[in-house]
Amino acid sequence: MISITLYGGANEIGGSKILLEDKDAKIYLDFGEPFGFGEDYFYDWLKPRKVNGLEVYFELGLMPKIKKIYNEKHLELTDLKYEKPDIDAVFISHSHSDHTGHLKFLDEIIPVYLGHGTKAVMDAYKHLYPQFTDHGKHEAIHTFKSGDKIKVKHLTIEPIHVEHSVPGAYGFIIHTSKGPLVYTGDFRMHGPKASMTKEFIEKASLCNPYAMLCEGTRMTPDAEHNYTEKEVEERASSIIKDSKGLVLAYFAMTNVDRFMSFYHAAVKNNRILVVDTRLAYILDCFKEKISALPDVFSDENIRVYYRLSKSCTFCDKDYYPWEREYFSKKITYEEINKNPLKYVIHSGFNKLMELIYLKPENADFIYSSSEHFLEGEDNEEMRTVLENWMGHFNIKFHKTHCSGHASKNDLVGAIKKINPNILIPVHTQNSEEFKKHHSNVIIPEKGKRIEI
Ligand SMILES: [Zn+2]
Ligand SMILES: [Zn+2]
Repeated sequence: MISITLYGGANEIGGSKILLEDKDAKIYLDFGEPFGFGEDYFYDWLKPRKVNGLEVYFELGLMPKIKKIYNEKHLELTDLKYEKPDIDAVFISHSHSDHTGHLKFLDEIIPVYLGHGTKAVMDAYKHLYPQFTDHGKHEAIHTFKSGDKIKVKHLTIEPIHVEHSVPGAYGFIIHTSKGPLVYTGDFRMHGPKASMTKEFIEKASLCNPYAMLCEGTRMTPDAEHNYTEKEVEERASSIIKDSKGLVLAYFAMTNVDRFMSFYHAAVKNNRILVVDTRLAYILDCFKEKISALPDVFSDENIRVYYRLSKSCTFCDKDYYPWEREYFSKKITYEEINKNPLKYVIHSGFNKLMELIYLKPENADFIYSSSEHFLEGEDNEEMRTVLENWMGHFNIKFHKTHCSGHASKNDLVGAIKKINPNILIPVHTQNSEEFKKHHSNVIIPEKGKRIEI
């Protein structure tokens, strides 16, 4: 008998915290923060201080009150006594905060296993945004690569790479006393790395798994059109081709596939892709691991944007030392304004102030990220601000995006191919929908132990 308890990710997208217990072995698969975490109680400056530790979260029912996992410091003001943890390991599927965001609360002595790529992304964020990034100070961080076999007591955990909207994403095959258990993590298979997901599905299918924890972000009652990464690139290219001015594009900095789509679209239209120093740093960090990425320093189709420094100049001493690294590729608004039709510039909500200097005419803005920002009720105020900027400079707004998650058809195909005895939906708001595609579905409830 093995047991599975979802402390997050049950009938919700994100916040995955999956406890697997098998005899005396206990591991967590992901330890993430739910989207919109605490938004019912916190607002602007009304938010917990570090000194409050877990007390606030326990009181408001935002964190599960579990013994023997949390860090002593965070438990100080709570009625949960610190005890040495009995968790053998935490395995992280990928770097997104809905899978890693609550690592900071765990006891530092619990070993954390993550992919090389995941560590690279997390380290880059820590470097670029130290004030907003806290993953805790874990004493033992082990990195793995696809195909490794990691022993934790009698369990063997096999991470296998999958395609997602961030590099370094993995699914796991876990060999338990009851048989193999598959956890998909987040995955898709409509981009340039689809073969990685196919490899995972193939291996998972060959091991005849006893159970499968399957993500279901897009397991919606009606299947929607599945835009591919190739289509995103083509659409971006056609907007750039028709543009009569500067093209501004927004996409997530760690979405390397999307970067490549815009890079190809820009180059195809004889434009240079301008990135800021942060994106240049991220590309630089990935360069060793992803050979297809262009080299920021030598690629003539990439320039690095420097905004005015505090002293109102572009003097190198005013920038962080790591930013100065890209000075040989420096471009400023002055050079862009001389010939805006030569450039596509990575932009975004927080960079709109640069429009004051770029003063674009006949410009186009391509939004290429999750539709939640454009459709979600919680983003209405930000959307109005964005619209005001677009209106002020008369910028044409376009969107092109494809999901980081598998389409409904691809999910059903993966389930059929892997064909587990038991199917447990995770990371989905449509758990019931899985029943149409498998005869033995167990729908998890938050915090309730499932024995299989
Ligand atoms: Zn996720
Ligand atoms: Zn994800």
